[in-house]
Amino acid sequence: MPDLLTHYVSSFLVSRPFFKTREALLISFAGLLPDLDALLRVHRWFTHSLPISYVFWAPVFLGILLYDKKYLKYAAMGISLYTLHVFLDLFCGYTPILWPFYPAIWLNVGLDGIFSQNGISFSSSFKVLTQSPDFSQRSVVEGPIISETGVIIFIIAILVIVAENLGRRKMRKIEWM
Ligand SMILES: [Zn+2]
Repeated sequence: MPDLLTHYVSSFLVSRPFFKTREALLISFAGLLPDLDALLRVHRWFTHSLPISYVFWAPVFLGILLYDKKYLKYAAMGISLYTLHVFLDLFCGYTPILWPFYPAIWLNVGLDGIFSQNGISFSSSFKVLTQSPDFSQRSVVEGPIISETGVIIFIIAILVIVAENLGRRKMRKIEWM
């Protein structure tokens, strides 16, 4: 799986254009919910099945529709980020995205580009692999909580946000002049 930090940052980048930064920081935790199964050392359990998880999301939507529709956009973003997590996991290993209706799926994408004395060469491959899901409890859950890729993406996201805010302040100052 992409590490938790990557899941969180990608959720934040998706939600930020639609919400205030503080709201986006909070709602991005919805993008980590599928990995609650890791606490039981069963990664990619039914929490990674969209049909099953949508059954749990349905009462949330129903409650919002019945009582206060102003929260609908938060629930819609929450379920989108939840879904995004499961889709990202599809590229990293067998994920029971359609379980119990379909076995676990792994979209195995290989992409390699190299410079050599013969020039530039690219190779790519794409395989859709399936197997019955493994819901057994592991001694170690595969997939890190944090990785160097996650940290790099996190730092880049922070730099972009800081640059954006500085740009906005500068624009305001120019408007005042
Ligand atoms: Zn996951």
